[in-house]
This record gives sequence, structure tokens and C-alpha cells, in this order.
Amino acid sequence: MLNGLLSKAFKKSIWVYHANSGGCNGCDIEVLNVLTPYYDVERFGIKLVGSPRHADVMLCQGPASRPTAKALRRAYEAMPAPKLVFAIGSCACGGGIWYDTYNVIGSIDKIIPVDFYIPGCPPRPEAIVFGVAVALGVVDKKVAPVRFKQLEFPIARYHPQDLVEEDGMLVYSKMDHI
Ligand code: SF4
Repeated sequence: MLNGLLSKAFKKSIWVYHANSGGCNGCDIEVLNVLTPYYDVERFGIKLVGSPRHADVMLCQGPASRPTAKALRRAYEAMPAPKLVFAIGSCACGGGIWYDTYNVIGSIDKIIPVDFYIPGCPPRPEAIVFGVAVALGVVDKKVAPVRFKQLEFPIARYHPQDLVEEDGMLVYSKMDHI
């Protein structure tokens, strides 16, 4: 169904809105790099716009965080349908290295529907261009889809209360479980 929608609704130029829901700006820089004349995505008809009201596609970086969740949702709702969302970078795809911090909710698909995921920390500009171009049917896929297995959670974590004193030294008592 998504492929049918893509081929009908996004036949011509695609206007993209660039959103950051709380990333470190590493992915931002790579997305902006993609929009510069060096990578020149306008040759595919992909053009940056300043307002979500004018956008067909949202390129979102950073994990979903509590302070920005409402604003991200509002930006998504302001986009006219049909619309697509790309999660760019490991933070947007799964929370990244911040996944269990106090103000991070996790991947952005906890706030808005995501259609495509481009992982990496940050993904290279070539990966972003290729991911967007493949998704929009501008170029052909070069590889077959790969399915990854999620690591088992919870992974053992450091807790200060597990520090014990041994022979005048502080030792992490659960070290052998990590
Ligand atoms: S994926 Fe990496 S580069 Fe991108 S926002 Fe997260 S930490 Fe920064």
C-alpha cells in the first residue's frame, strides 16, 4: 500500500521539513550536508522547506524527548496528507545512546508514525540520500532487506548502590554479571 501511495502521491518534487526532536546535532549536520550543492538532492526534486505546512516529508533526527514531544507532534499534524516521516539516525530509530535517560522517551515512532528508518550515528550523507531516493522510488534498491534481531533487554546497568568496599577499595559487586 505504501509503495502504491509513494508512486501516486510523490511522483514529482518532494518538499522536506527538517526536524530535530532532541539529537546532538550530528545527524542534523549530515542532513544539512545532503541539502548543500555538494550532494545536491534537488537533482532528485527533493527541496527543503521552512514550514511543516508546506512539506510532504519530515526528516526527523534525535530521540523523542519529553520537552520536544508535543512540538514534534504539532509539526507532524501541521503537514498536509499524504505525508511521510523518515527517522534519521540511531537516536530517532531507537533512542540511541540516550534510550534510558530521564528525559528521553525513546524512538520517535513513540510520538509520530514513522515510514522509513535510516540508522547510523550519524548516517553518512550518501546513506541519507540513498535511503530517501530508494523509498521514493527514484533509484533501485542495491541490497535485499535485512532483518536484525534486537538484543535482550534489560541489559545489566551500573547502579551506585552495588558499590562495596573491599580492602579499602570500592568494587562494583555485580561486575561479573555485565
Ligand atoms: S544518532 Fe548519533 S549523531 Fe545522530 S543525534 Fe543521535 S547521537 Fe547524535
